[in-house]
Amino acid sequence: MKTAAIIVAAGSGTRAGGGIPKQFAMLAGKPMLAHSFAAFSSHPAIDEVLIVIGAGQEAMLADALGDVRFIIGGVTRRESVANGLAAIEAERVLIHDAARPFLSHVVIDRLLAALDTHKGAIPGLPVADTLVSTAGDAVSREGLTRVQTPQAFLVETIRAAHAAWPEDREATDDAQMVRALGHGVAIVEGDAALEKVTHPADFAAAEMRHSASLRVRTAQGFDVHRFAEGEELWLGGVLIPHTHGLSGHSDADVALHAITDALLGTIGAGDIGTHFPPSDPQWRGVRSARFLEHAAGLVAAEGGVIDFVDLTVICEAPKVGPHRDAIRASIAAILKLPVARVSLKATTTERLGFTGRGEGMAAQAIATVRLPDTN
Ligand code: MG
Repeated sequence: MKTAAIIVAAGSGTRAGGGIPKQFAMLAGKPMLAHSFAAFSSHPAIDEVLIVIGAGQEAMLADALGDVRFIIGGVTRRESVANGLAAIEAERVLIHDAARPFLSHVVIDRLLAALDTHKGAIPGLPVADTLVSTAGDAVSREGLTRVQTPQAFLVETIRAAHAAWPEDREATDDAQMVRALGHGVAIVEGDAALEKVTHPADFAAAEMRHSASLRVRTAQGFDVHRFAEGEELWLGGVLIPHTHGLSGHSDADVALHAITDALLGTIGAGDIGTHFPPSDPQWRGVRSARFLEHAAGLVAAEGGVIDFVDLTVICEAPKVGPHRDAIRASIAAILKLPVARVSLKATTTERLGFTGRGEGMAAQAIATVRLPDTN
Protein backbone atom coordinates (compact mmCIF):
# COMPACT_ATOMS: atom_id res chain seq x y z
CA MET A 1 0.00 0.00 0.00
CA LYS A 2 1.48 3.35 -1.01
CA THR A 3 1.62 6.09 1.61
CA ALA A 4 1.96 9.82 0.99
CA ALA A 5 2.62 12.68 3.39
CA ILE A 6 1.28 16.18 2.77
CA ILE A 7 2.88 19.02 4.74
CA VAL A 8 0.70 22.12 4.78
CA ALA A 9 3.11 25.06 4.81
CA ALA A 10 1.05 27.70 3.03
CA GLY A 11 0.64 30.18 5.89
CA SER A 12 1.73 33.78 5.50
CA GLY A 13 1.70 34.62 9.21
CA THR A 14 4.84 36.34 10.47
CA ARG A 15 3.76 36.48 14.12
CA ALA A 16 6.89 34.58 15.08
CA GLY A 17 8.97 37.62 14.06
CA GLY A 18 11.81 37.86 11.59
CA GLY A 19 9.53 39.07 8.81
CA ILE A 20 9.19 35.72 7.05
CA PRO A 21 6.37 33.17 7.33
CA LYS A 22 7.05 31.04 10.39
CA GLN A 23 7.32 27.73 8.49
CA PHE A 24 10.50 29.11 6.87
CA ALA A 25 11.88 30.68 10.06
CA MET A 26 14.96 29.07 11.63
CA LEU A 27 14.26 26.70 14.50
CA ALA A 28 16.78 24.36 16.14
CA GLY A 29 19.33 24.86 13.39
CA LYS A 30 17.12 24.63 10.29
CA PRO A 31 13.97 26.11 8.76
CA MET A 32 10.94 24.91 10.73
CA LEU A 33 9.50 23.09 7.73
CA ALA A 34 12.70 21.08 7.28
CA HIS A 35 12.12 19.19 10.55
CA SER A 36 8.86 17.48 9.59
CA PHE A 37 10.09 17.05 6.01
CA ALA A 38 13.08 15.10 7.37
CA ALA A 39 10.84 13.02 9.66
CA PHE A 40 8.61 11.93 6.78
CA SER A 41 11.39 11.51 4.21
CA SER A 42 13.38 9.22 6.51
CA HIS A 43 10.39 7.03 7.46
CA PRO A 44 10.54 3.68 5.62
CA ALA A 45 6.76 3.45 5.09
CA ILE A 46 6.40 6.86 3.41
CA ASP A 47 6.71 6.78 -0.38
CA GLU A 48 6.01 10.39 -1.26
CA VAL A 49 6.24 13.76 0.53
CA LEU A 50 4.36 16.71 -0.97
CA ILE A 51 4.62 20.24 0.41
CA VAL A 52 1.81 22.75 0.00
CA ILE A 53 3.08 26.33 0.02
CA GLY A 54 1.49 29.72 -0.55
CA ALA A 55 1.69 31.52 -3.88
CA GLY A 56 5.00 33.40 -4.11
CA GLN A 57 6.78 31.20 -1.53
CA GLU A 58 8.66 29.12 -4.13
CA ALA A 59 12.01 30.82 -3.54
CA MET A 60 11.73 30.49 0.26
CA LEU A 61 10.97 26.78 -0.15
CA ALA A 62 13.97 26.29 -2.44
CA ASP A 63 16.19 28.06 0.12
CA ALA A 64 14.84 25.86 2.90
CA LEU A 65 14.78 22.44 1.26
CA GLY A 66 16.28 22.68 -2.22
CA ASP A 67 14.56 20.83 -5.02
CA VAL A 68 11.48 19.15 -3.49
CA ARG A 69 7.97 18.34 -4.69
CA PHE A 70 5.45 21.07 -3.94
CA ILE A 71 2.15 22.55 -5.06
CA ILE A 72 0.51 25.90 -4.38
CA GLY A 73 -2.24 25.93 -1.76
CA GLY A 74 -5.60 27.67 -1.66
CA VAL A 75 -7.07 30.57 0.30
CA THR A 76 -7.98 28.39 3.30
CA ARG A 77 -6.24 25.43 4.92
CA ARG A 78 -9.07 23.22 3.67
CA GLU A 79 -8.42 24.27 0.06
CA SER A 80 -4.70 23.75 0.53
CA VAL A 81 -5.26 20.19 1.77
CA ALA A 82 -7.71 19.52 -1.09
CA ASN A 83 -5.07 20.67 -3.62
CA GLY A 84 -2.59 18.31 -1.97
CA LEU A 85 -5.01 15.38 -2.00
CA ALA A 86 -5.59 15.90 -5.73
CA ALA A 87 -1.85 15.74 -6.41
CA ILE A 88 -0.84 12.52 -4.61
CA GLU A 89 -0.88 8.94 -5.82
CA ALA A 90 -1.28 6.75 -2.74
CA GLU A 91 -3.78 4.70 -0.77
CA ARG A 92 -2.89 6.20 2.61
CA VAL A 93 -2.07 9.79 3.47
CA LEU A 94 -0.74 11.68 6.48
CA ILE A 95 -1.75 15.36 6.53
CA HIS A 96 0.54 17.47 8.67
CA ASP A 97 0.97 21.11 9.67
CA ALA A 98 4.49 22.52 9.26
CA ALA A 99 3.91 24.42 12.52
CA ARG A 100 4.38 21.14 14.43
CA PRO A 101 8.04 20.54 13.58
CA PHE A 102 9.13 17.86 16.05
CA LEU A 103 7.46 14.81 14.58
CA SER A 104 8.78 11.41 15.68
CA HIS A 105 8.64 8.15 13.76
CA VAL A 106 6.85 6.62 16.76
CA VAL A 107 3.78 8.82 16.17
CA ILE A 108 3.80 8.01 12.43
CA ASP A 109 3.96 4.28 13.29
CA ARG A 110 1.00 4.55 15.68
CA LEU A 111 -1.11 6.36 13.07
CA LEU A 112 -0.32 3.90 10.27
CA ALA A 113 -1.06 0.93 12.57
CA ALA A 114 -4.47 2.43 13.41
CA LEU A 115 -5.29 2.72 9.69
CA ASP A 116 -5.34 -1.10 9.55
CA THR A 117 -8.65 -0.98 11.41
CA HIS A 118 -9.94 2.59 10.84
CA LYS A 119 -10.45 4.93 7.90
CA GLY A 120 -8.82 7.74 9.86
CA ALA A 121 -6.50 8.20 12.84
CA ILE A 122 -5.29 11.29 14.70
CA PRO A 123 -2.76 11.86 17.51
CA GLY A 124 -4.18 13.26 20.73
CA LEU A 125 -3.10 14.10 24.26
CA PRO A 126 -5.23 14.29 27.40
CA VAL A 127 -6.14 17.74 28.73
CA ALA A 128 -4.13 18.29 31.91
CA ASP A 129 -5.17 21.85 32.77
CA THR A 130 -8.36 22.78 34.57
CA LEU A 131 -10.87 24.14 32.07
CA VAL A 132 -13.41 26.88 32.68
CA SER A 133 -15.79 28.60 30.29
CA THR A 134 -15.46 32.35 29.71
CA ALA A 135 -18.40 32.72 32.10
CA GLY A 136 -16.21 31.10 34.76
CA ASP A 137 -18.02 27.75 34.95
CA ALA A 138 -15.87 24.63 35.34
CA VAL A 139 -15.81 22.38 32.28
CA SER A 140 -15.19 18.66 32.70
CA ARG A 141 -11.97 17.38 31.10
CA GLU A 142 -13.62 13.98 30.73
CA GLY A 143 -13.74 12.88 27.12
CA LEU A 144 -11.63 15.83 25.94
CA THR A 145 -8.50 15.39 23.83
CA ARG A 146 -5.98 17.91 22.51
CA VAL A 147 -5.78 17.03 18.83
CA GLN A 148 -2.47 17.21 16.94
CA THR A 149 -1.23 16.44 13.45
CA PRO A 150 -0.34 14.49 11.35
CA GLN A 151 -3.83 13.14 10.74
CA ALA A 152 -3.86 9.87 8.81
CA PHE A 153 -6.56 8.65 6.43
CA LEU A 154 -7.33 6.25 3.66
CA VAL A 155 -7.00 8.51 0.61
CA GLU A 156 -10.36 7.44 -0.81
CA THR A 157 -12.11 8.39 2.45
CA ILE A 158 -10.50 11.80 2.95
CA ARG A 159 -11.04 12.74 -0.71
CA ALA A 160 -14.75 11.82 -0.33
CA ALA A 161 -14.92 13.86 2.89
CA HIS A 162 -13.47 16.93 1.18
CA ALA A 163 -15.81 16.51 -1.80
CA ALA A 164 -18.87 16.28 0.49
CA TRP A 165 -17.94 19.23 2.75
CA PRO A 166 -20.01 22.40 2.15
CA GLU A 167 -18.02 25.13 0.39
CA ASP A 168 -19.24 27.90 2.71
CA ARG A 169 -18.17 26.26 5.97
CA GLU A 170 -14.72 25.88 7.49
CA ALA A 171 -13.65 22.66 9.20
CA THR A 172 -11.60 22.63 12.40
CA ASP A 173 -9.51 19.79 10.99
CA ASP A 174 -9.61 16.95 8.47
CA ALA A 175 -10.84 14.44 11.04
CA GLN A 176 -14.01 16.50 11.53
CA MET A 177 -14.78 16.17 7.83
CA VAL A 178 -14.32 12.41 7.90
CA ARG A 179 -16.55 12.10 10.99
CA ALA A 180 -19.20 14.15 9.15
CA LEU A 181 -19.41 11.25 6.68
CA GLY A 182 -20.23 8.94 9.59
CA HIS A 183 -16.80 7.28 9.89
CA GLY A 184 -15.08 6.72 13.22
CA VAL A 185 -11.62 8.25 13.60
CA ALA A 186 -9.16 6.51 15.93
CA ILE A 187 -7.23 8.59 18.47
CA VAL A 188 -3.68 7.36 19.04
CA GLU A 189 -1.22 8.65 21.65
CA GLY A 190 0.26 11.98 20.54
CA ASP A 191 3.53 13.54 21.63
CA ALA A 192 4.19 16.57 23.83
CA ALA A 193 7.03 17.48 21.44
CA LEU A 194 4.46 17.92 18.65
CA GLU A 195 3.06 21.11 20.17
CA LYS A 196 2.27 23.87 17.69
CA VAL A 197 4.91 26.58 17.32
CA THR A 198 3.25 29.93 16.64
CA HIS A 199 4.46 32.84 18.74
CA PRO A 200 8.00 34.02 19.55
CA ALA A 201 7.60 32.46 23.02
CA ASP A 202 6.75 29.12 21.37
CA PHE A 203 9.92 29.37 19.28
CA ALA A 204 11.99 30.03 22.40
CA ALA A 205 10.36 27.11 24.25
CA ALA A 206 10.79 24.77 21.27
CA GLU A 207 14.43 25.85 20.96
CA MET A 208 15.00 25.03 24.65
CA ARG A 209 13.23 21.67 24.47
CA HIS A 210 15.26 20.81 21.42
CA SER A 211 18.60 21.72 22.95
CA ALA A 212 17.72 19.80 26.12
CA SER A 213 17.18 16.72 23.95
CA LEU A 214 20.65 16.93 22.39
CA ARG A 215 23.48 14.72 23.65
CA VAL A 216 27.14 15.69 23.59
CA ARG A 217 29.49 13.60 21.46
CA THR A 218 33.25 14.03 21.34
CA ALA A 219 35.56 12.43 18.80
CA GLN A 220 39.18 12.83 17.76
CA GLY A 221 41.07 12.86 14.50
CA PHE A 222 44.77 12.43 13.73
CA ASP A 223 46.75 12.95 10.54
CA VAL A 224 50.33 13.02 9.28
CA HIS A 225 51.84 14.25 6.02
CA ARG A 226 55.39 14.19 4.77
CA PHE A 227 57.33 17.35 3.88
CA ALA A 228 58.46 17.58 0.26
CA GLU A 229 60.27 20.16 -1.79
CA GLY A 230 58.32 22.06 -4.41
CA GLU A 231 54.98 21.68 -2.60
CA GLU A 232 52.83 24.43 -1.10
CA LEU A 233 52.26 24.32 2.64
CA TRP A 234 48.52 24.52 3.41
CA LEU A 235 47.59 24.52 7.05
CA GLY A 236 44.04 25.00 8.27
CA GLY A 237 43.08 26.33 4.84
CA VAL A 238 45.83 28.98 4.93
CA LEU A 239 48.86 29.06 2.60
CA ILE A 240 51.95 29.35 4.81
CA PRO A 241 55.33 30.48 3.40
CA HIS A 242 57.92 27.77 4.14
CA THR A 243 60.90 26.02 2.60
CA HIS A 244 58.86 22.81 2.20
CA GLY A 245 55.25 21.94 1.68
CA LEU A 246 53.30 18.82 2.56
CA SER A 247 52.70 16.09 0.03
CA GLY A 248 49.90 13.57 -0.19
CA HIS A 249 46.14 13.31 -0.60
CA SER A 250 44.58 16.53 -1.97
CA ASP A 251 46.48 19.64 -0.78
CA ALA A 252 47.74 17.56 2.21
CA ASP A 253 46.32 20.01 4.76
CA VAL A 254 47.09 17.96 7.83
CA ALA A 255 45.07 20.26 10.14
CA LEU A 256 41.86 20.16 8.10
CA HIS A 257 42.21 16.40 7.65
CA ALA A 258 42.44 15.85 11.41
CA ILE A 259 39.36 18.03 12.02
CA THR A 260 37.45 16.29 9.23
CA ASP A 261 38.15 12.90 10.83
CA ALA A 262 37.13 14.21 14.27
CA LEU A 263 33.77 15.44 12.90
CA LEU A 264 33.15 12.19 11.03
CA GLY A 265 33.94 10.39 14.28
CA THR A 266 31.15 12.17 16.16
CA ILE A 267 28.56 10.57 13.88
CA GLY A 268 30.38 7.27 13.37
CA ALA A 269 30.65 8.00 9.65
CA GLY A 270 34.04 6.40 8.97
CA ASP A 271 37.06 8.51 8.08
CA ILE A 272 38.22 10.91 5.38
CA GLY A 273 39.43 7.99 3.24
CA THR A 274 35.93 6.45 3.32
CA HIS A 275 34.43 9.58 1.77
CA PHE A 276 37.37 10.78 -0.36
CA PRO A 277 39.55 7.78 -1.25
CA PRO A 278 43.19 8.83 -1.91
CA SER A 279 43.12 6.42 -4.88
CA ASP A 280 40.39 8.50 -6.58
CA PRO A 281 42.09 10.96 -9.00
CA GLN A 282 39.29 13.54 -8.60
CA TRP A 283 40.63 14.46 -5.12
CA ARG A 284 44.23 15.05 -6.31
CA GLY A 285 45.27 18.61 -5.42
CA VAL A 286 41.79 19.52 -4.18
CA ARG A 287 41.43 22.10 -1.38
CA SER A 288 40.76 20.22 1.85
CA ALA A 289 38.13 22.79 2.88
CA ARG A 290 35.85 20.72 0.68
CA PHE A 291 36.35 17.64 2.84
CA LEU A 292 35.72 19.58 6.02
CA GLU A 293 32.57 21.20 4.60
CA HIS A 294 31.32 17.75 3.63
CA ALA A 295 31.87 16.38 7.14
CA ALA A 296 30.15 19.41 8.70
CA GLY A 297 27.24 18.88 6.29
CA LEU A 298 26.90 15.25 7.39
CA VAL A 299 26.79 16.33 11.05
CA ALA A 300 24.11 18.93 10.21
CA ALA A 301 22.11 16.32 8.26
CA GLU A 302 21.97 14.24 11.46
CA GLY A 303 20.51 17.25 13.26
CA GLY A 304 23.85 17.92 14.95
CA VAL A 305 25.37 21.21 16.09
CA ILE A 306 29.15 21.71 16.20
CA ASP A 307 30.10 23.29 19.52
CA PHE A 308 33.87 23.34 19.58
CA VAL A 309 36.96 22.26 17.69
CA ASP A 310 40.36 21.97 19.36
CA LEU A 311 43.40 21.45 17.15
CA THR A 312 47.04 20.68 17.96
CA VAL A 313 49.65 20.99 15.21
CA ILE A 314 52.90 19.12 15.81
CA CYS A 315 56.04 20.21 13.94
CA GLU A 316 59.52 21.65 14.45
CA ALA A 317 59.02 24.29 11.73
CA PRO A 318 57.46 26.51 10.52
CA LYS A 319 56.40 28.48 13.57
CA VAL A 320 52.62 28.25 13.76
CA GLY A 321 52.08 31.08 16.27
CA PRO A 322 52.33 33.96 13.73
CA HIS A 323 49.58 32.28 11.65
CA ARG A 324 47.32 31.29 14.55
CA ASP A 325 44.70 34.01 14.04
CA ALA A 326 44.50 33.45 10.28
CA ILE A 327 44.15 29.67 10.68
CA ARG A 328 41.48 29.94 13.39
CA ALA A 329 39.53 32.40 11.25
CA SER A 330 39.84 30.13 8.22
CA ILE A 331 38.58 27.03 10.07
CA ALA A 332 35.78 29.04 11.71
CA ALA A 333 34.68 30.32 8.29
CA ILE A 334 34.61 26.81 6.79
CA LEU A 335 32.57 25.49 9.74
CA LYS A 336 30.43 28.65 10.02
CA LEU A 337 31.40 28.94 13.69
CA PRO A 338 32.46 31.97 15.74
CA VAL A 339 36.28 32.10 15.94
CA ALA A 340 36.03 31.67 19.73
CA ARG A 341 34.83 28.11 19.14
CA VAL A 342 37.99 27.11 17.29
CA SER A 343 41.17 26.55 19.28
CA LEU A 344 44.65 26.12 17.80
CA LYS A 345 47.70 24.96 19.69
CA ALA A 346 51.12 24.02 18.37
CA THR A 347 53.98 22.05 19.80
CA THR A 348 57.33 20.63 18.79
CA THR A 349 58.49 17.18 19.82
CA GLU A 350 61.82 18.39 21.16
CA ARG A 351 63.60 17.27 17.96
CA LEU A 352 62.50 13.69 18.61
CA GLY A 353 60.85 11.44 16.07
CA PHE A 354 59.82 12.21 12.48
CA THR A 355 58.36 15.60 13.36
CA GLY A 356 61.49 16.41 15.36
CA ARG A 357 63.68 15.56 12.38
CA GLY A 358 61.53 17.81 10.19
CA GLU A 359 60.39 14.96 7.96
CA GLY A 360 56.72 15.72 8.31
CA MET A 361 53.93 17.35 10.23
CA ALA A 362 51.18 15.85 12.40
CA ALA A 363 47.89 17.22 13.68
CA GLN A 364 45.41 16.10 16.31
CA ALA A 365 41.87 17.44 16.57
CA ILE A 366 39.01 16.96 18.98
CA ALA A 367 35.50 17.93 17.93
CA THR A 368 32.59 18.38 20.31
CA VAL A 369 29.11 18.27 18.80
CA ARG A 370 25.56 17.93 20.11
CA LEU A 371 23.30 15.42 18.38
CA PRO A 372 19.65 14.44 18.77
CA ASP A 373 19.14 11.60 21.23
CA THR A 374 17.85 9.33 18.48
CA ASN A 375 21.24 9.22 16.73
MG1 MG B 1 45.68 13.38 5.36
